[in-house]
Amino acid sequence: MNATRPTRILILGGGFGGVYTALNLETILKRELKRGEVEIGLVSRDNYLTFQPMLPEVVSGSIGILDTITPIRRLCPRTDLYTRAIEEIDLERRRVTLAAGVGSRQLQLGYDHLVIALGNVTTFAGQSGLSEHALPFKYLGDALALRNHAIHALEEADIEREAKARSGLLTFVVAGGGFSGVEAVAELNDFVRSAARSFRNVRPEEIRVVLLHAGGLILPELPKNLAEFAQRLLMKRGVELRLNTRLAGATAEAALLTRGERIETRTLVSTVPGGPNPVVASLNCPKDRGRVLTDPYLEVPGNPGVWAVGDCALIMDAATGEASPPTAQHATREGRCAAENIAATIRGSAKRAFAFKALGKMGSLGHRSAVAEVFGLKLSGFLAWWLWRTVYLMKLPGLDRKIRVAVDWTLDLLLPSDIVQLRTERAVSLRREHFEAGQAIFQEGDHGDWLYIIEDGEVEVRKFIAGQGETPIRRLGPGDCFGEIALLGDHVRTASTHSLTSANVLAIDRDACQALLSTLPPLRDFFNRLLEERVGMRPESVGMRPESRNALDVSNDVTAHTIQEGAR
Ligand SMILES: Cc1cc2nc3c(=O)[nH]c(=O)nc-3n(C[C@H](O)[C@H](O)[C@H](O)COP(=O)(O)OP(=O)(O)OC[C@H]3O[C@@H](n4cnc5c(N)ncnc54)[C@H](O)[C@@H]3O)c2cc1C
Repeated sequence: MNATRPTRILILGGGFGGVYTALNLETILKRELKRGEVEIGLVSRDNYLTFQPMLPEVVSGSIGILDTITPIRRLCPRTDLYTRAIEEIDLERRRVTLAAGVGSRQLQLGYDHLVIALGNVTTFAGQSGLSEHALPFKYLGDALALRNHAIHALEEADIEREAKARSGLLTFVVAGGGFSGVEAVAELNDFVRSAARSFRNVRPEEIRVVLLHAGGLILPELPKNLAEFAQRLLMKRGVELRLNTRLAGATAEAALLTRGERIETRTLVSTVPGGPNPVVASLNCPKDRGRVLTDPYLEVPGNPGVWAVGDCALIMDAATGEASPPTAQHATREGRCAAENIAATIRGSAKRAFAFKALGKMGSLGHRSAVAEVFGLKLSGFLAWWLWRTVYLMKLPGLDRKIRVAVDWTLDLLLPSDIVQLRTERAVSLRREHFEAGQAIFQEGDHGDWLYIIEDGEVEVRKFIAGQGETPIRRLGPGDCFGEIALLGDHVRTASTHSLTSANVLAIDRDACQALLSTLPPLRDFFNRLLEERVGMRPESVGMRPESRNALDVSNDVTAHTIQEGAR
């Protein structure tokens, strides 16, 4: 302990690893905290702990949106919480930099002991179109986004008459046959099938729910007979299993599988395990496949006072010699062990090596059914489901949350599924889109609300010409833009565009375009020249809002006229 100032323990991450380290430190170092000899700080992007095992139930709405999260301040009242993003860890200077918050000032925190508990992140690297078109499934926001997305798809399907579009809207695809994928697909399947009863024009047989799994049997963590039970049950409930099948990419309209196959869908969820957290990836310390290596006491070799726990750490179990799996069960025990060893270091007593035998594995299959292997006992069906609920209710931190979840579960047995679509997102003015070779980007006659800039790949502009049919009129590549004529002229698309190769584009919406054009004269000049070159449109019409542009109707005529002459 430092003679002049308190010993600073800084925990990075507000997941199971970080929060359970803080919780245990508060208990073990109660005396030192009271005397002001020790300070505990915890940095996390969110001010709550997410109970991930219950996230799939947020999708179906069988528990309330906020019931899977617990405020960290309530769980760890003697810990200083910094709700900010961590930008950098400087192990040499023993300093952590936090991103600017309100007032644009970064914050730097020093430490005597540092606990790295930053988990891993969802990454779609190397799979084209996934970051643009697939939904991740890790945080509360992801579960909420998926629920809203599924309801939106049902709403659209209810009014869509075109068969192909309806089928895409009513097909829901989940990739990943591990626990989180199986639990997510089970809840999603139950939810869309029961919610669809409230939609007059959606027939149950139109709904398709697909689970993609790279292996030959889902839930590889479980004994074969339990995994087979889970497979049979999901299929009985209408889930289509695609085994030995990997997701290779996505577009806005389809999941792309290896071997060139595609499934038309507007809802694609990827639960495939994430990659290393970028803050951890940039650390200069021993790592194995992106995870921080620790010694048996959870300290990082060569970095005294630096500890790592949870999914971001590679911890060899002292009893079995095997790597601890990335589970909440392990993260909480590692948090306790790190807290004990930090206290032992401060007090000068002996540290303990980490060893923990998992109590069991459980996976919910929705509809009052689950699979479980607990203390070597294999259970399936209702009994496993009852055990699953009891165990997770006990584990859920905070008495108030336990009560809320118990009430929600009871009401869920009696009341129909809620189908309210919560719109939480702000309008997006800039987005990335991925298109596969041959895919239509927009069609002649579509409403023109977006301007596109090609990042990579090639796009062809085609125009219907009487007697010739659809005729290519322009080929565009990286750095070229398209879609400006309908957008700036405020009328429907006067040509269609198709990707010739796999292409990534940046799409900017009408309002953002108008804002840029009215404030950035060089950009306005650029579009003036482009429009003149492409269709002979009058330069002065660019950069003006349609409602303030009486001359627009005239320039529309000019544009339309020129287009009919074949420019585009
Ligand atoms: C859907 C789902 C279901 C699961 N079900 C189970 C289950 O039934 N049983 C089980 O044992 N395990 C389950 N798991 C796994 C379990 O949730 C994880 O192993 C566990 O959460 C790991 O804890 P952690 O503290 O290491 O990481 P995380 O829980 O990922 O926490 C990392 C923390 O660091 C914060 N963070 C990251 N980067 C930054 C940054 N740059 N700045 C600020 N803060 C940052 C995050 O906000 C987060 O608070 C499930 C996981 C998922 C996704």
